[in-house]
Amino acid sequence: MGIMERMRLDGKVSLVTGGARGIGKAIAEAIAEAGSHVAIVDIDIDEAKKTADEIAKNLDVQTIAIKTDVTNQEDVDKMIASILNKFGKLDVAFCNAGICMNIPAEEMTLDQFKKVIDINLTGVFLTSQAAAKVMLKQGKGSIINTASMSGHIVNVPQPQCSYNASKAGVIQLTKSMAIEFAKRNVRVNSISPGYIGTELTLNSPDLKPLIAKWNELAPLGRMGRPDELQAIAVYLAGDTSDFTTGSDFIIDGAFSCF
Ligand code: NAP
Repeated sequence: MGIMERMRLDGKVSLVTGGARGIGKAIAEAIAEAGSHVAIVDIDIDEAKKTADEIAKNLDVQTIAIKTDVTNQEDVDKMIASILNKFGKLDVAFCNAGICMNIPAEEMTLDQFKKVIDINLTGVFLTSQAAAKVMLKQGKGSIINTASMSGHIVNVPQPQCSYNASKAGVIQLTKSMAIEFAKRNVRVNSISPGYIGTELTLNSPDLKPLIAKWNELAPLGRMGRPDELQAIAVYLAGDTSDFTTGSDFIIDGAFSCF
């Protein structure tokens, strides 16, 4: 069988948190195009339903939209149960939901700091743990966490200490789980995007004014697009990446090289 055929995900069942829009939506569309059924998991259920309906209409797969706050363990457990109820298994989990707050470190309140860590790091832990429990029983699975280049470098000029710390945490959480699950055939990897044009960046009142500065610093002179993360998502979800675990894939147009 040729490589393009072996990269297909026909019959697999995947979930994508933060799947309603932005990077999560692009990932969901890509894996659906490759043949995977998809659960769109998001706190914004209206947008999640729209995305799930759009994918089911355009592609030959089944979808489900599930309202979930990834910081709430009960929500996460119920979400996994709904997927198992509908599809009977879970092959792939993209733990992608995340937020950013741009507040100087000396002014950030404990609640603000905790909110970012809760969604970006604890949310990834809760989702990947719940997915892993199913996958370990099944004897196979692939977990892909969205980290960031901010887990490797400190972005400038915006102050975002909680975000950077949360994403560094995601990278180490990924590697730690990868080691624990390796012999049991459950793989765990992360994707670390650079600046990508989504609501989080393009429509944030704090970040939008900085785009010109980022583009000036960027070796490619521009931000990335969500679709530029689609191929790595399909690769990591599928069986051609069976030897790939514990890796972090930086896709940032060389932004973090200097
Ligand atoms: P986005 O457009 O803001 O989408 C994030 C989605 O996650 C939204 O639908 C959001 O819903 C949802 N969400 C927020 N809190 C949630 C929670 N507690 N439980 C479940 N869903 C929740 O962001 P994006 O740019 O696509 O980012 C996706 C991931 O990529 C994040 O982890 C982000 O840190 C990471 N990333 C982004 C960039 C970038 O430049 N865009 C770069 C590197 C890494 P609401 O709208 O209702 O909040």
